[in-house]
Amino acid sequence: MVFITGVAALAACGGQSAAVLGTPESSAKAFAEEITVGISMYLLVDDLENPDTTLSSHRSEEELAVILAGMNEIWGQAGIHLELANLETIVVEADVLAKVAVGDIRAFFDRLGGTIPFNVTGPESSLISGFYTRRIGGSNGITPLGTGWYMVMDEPSVFDRRVSSHEVGHILGLRHVFEDPGRLLYPGTNGMSLTPGEITLTRYVAMELMKAKR
Ligand SMILES: [Zn+2]
Repeated sequence: MVFITGVAALAACGGQSAAVLGTPESSAKAFAEEITVGISMYLLVDDLENPDTTLSSHRSEEELAVILAGMNEIWGQAGIHLELANLETIVVEADVLAKVAVGDIRAFFDRLGGTIPFNVTGPESSLISGFYTRRIGGSNGITPLGTGWYMVMDEPSVFDRRVSSHEVGHILGLRHVFEDPGRLLYPGTNGMSLTPGEITLTRYVAMELMKAKR
């Protein structure tokens, strides 16, 4: 039972401040069992050859790989490792990206499983999918409740790795908190800490989601 293992590991490192970011090395030692969660990251553009720069992400695939490394530093404090499954640039119709850019992501829902490759969200997809787009209204990022995917804009007001990690927190069952800006789930800050309770919950939810996916 990984859940029990997780609780035992938490008890063993209870003196460690949640505010201290664990490095991947130290967190691997802190948890008896690291949980590996598959993640895919996608750049959204309206055209591969000649993208509309007002709608298409300006990021590069290399930049996403750097963001993922930063996310693993943050999630390392929970003993959760995000393993890259796919890193791709995918084409989405300009009218859909235009709606997303003003914060209306409903048209994007319709495209998932449609013109976007099926494995992005179907049974063969990784547990978490991150879509990187030019703009999402006024939001840094968004995770539709109950889905395994998030979206992040090109120029968020806080660190890229923090925005993406915050959205992963939502996918793993966390809600916003408002009492401490140093926490990962405080909206709109560079806070990156997880409490012992959040660590227990996200490890549990990650295992349950992986079970449900099989
Ligand atoms: Zn949030």
